[in-house]
Amino acid sequence: MKKLNGSCLCGKVKIQIPDDFEYMGYCHCSDCRKFSGSDYASVGGLDSSKVEFISGESNVTYFSKTVETDLAFCSLCGSSLFSKKNLANKHNIRLGILNDTPTARPAFHIFVDSKAEWNNICDDLPQFKERPPKK
Ligand SMILES: [Zn+2]
Ligand SMILES: [Zn+2]
Repeated sequence: MKKLNGSCLCGKVKIQIPDDFEYMGYCHCSDCRKFSGSDYASVGGLDSSKVEFISGESNVTYFSKTVETDLAFCSLCGSSLFSKKNLANKHNIRLGILNDTPTARPAFHIFVDSKAEWNNICDDLPQFKERPPKK
């Protein structure tokens, strides 16, 4: 399977993942907005076991947001890298760190109830007030 490379701004942290996202979408929650410094966060999720560090694993700092969620960033340049879902064993990769183009495309908006007022969603993807309903 094709591999996707990702890295932080300074280049110390390099990860590699298979081109195998289980889901991909935009999160508008205020936590993602704070952490990313952007109007919303574009993320793709896959099993934590599929995330491989090529370099710089020791430069990654984890902020424990909740029992369920750790937020990872580069301690040198501050780039937000991914969130680690401890109970679901998923990594939600911030798509902005990718150097290669994934096959998947964002397919939903979540937490649109807390989206930035100035951000107009201009696509036809499904929108969820908070989390999408469980399958
Ligand atoms: Zn960095
Ligand atoms: Zn979020």
